[in-house]
Amino acid sequence: MSQQTPDDCIFCRIVAGDLPSDRVAETERSIAFRDINPAAPVHVLVVPRRHEPTMGALAASSDDLTDVFRLVQQVAEQEGVADAHRMVVSTGSGAGQTVFHAHVHVLAGVHFSEEWLL
Ligand code: 5GP
Ligand code: ZN
Repeated sequence: MSQQTPDDCIFCRIVAGDLPSDRVAETERSIAFRDINPAAPVHVLVVPRRHEPTMGALAASSDDLTDVFRLVQQVAEQEGVADAHRMVVSTGSGAGQTVFHAHVHVLAGVHFSEEWLL
């Protein structure tokens, strides 16, 4: 699986504030910002501040992992979609992962048919 060091990681640069993003919420450990290429009316990315290439790697830290999911819940409530949203996590380019900094997609505002995939 390809890895990026924090220096060339686009999400590390967003976390650091070196790249602009439409930030909707944050905690000490995680940030949430709108996807630049939304696949649904609500499409927010929740990412840990600490660089790990995948959510699986992040799972070594239960504090970071828990914080990401707490922030997902906060974003869903803020966006008014706590009762109807979908989380997507892709691991590896074979599954469509393009940014190798752990993240959860939070999607809502679309009819989730059985065929609907990110
Ligand atoms: P992945 O395909 O790795 O699961 O998701 C990466 C997501 O990051 C994609 O949906 C893509 O649109 C989004 N993305 C890539 N670069 C940027 C950026 O510079 N800013 C924002 N806000 N989103 C980005
Ligand atoms: Zn990173």
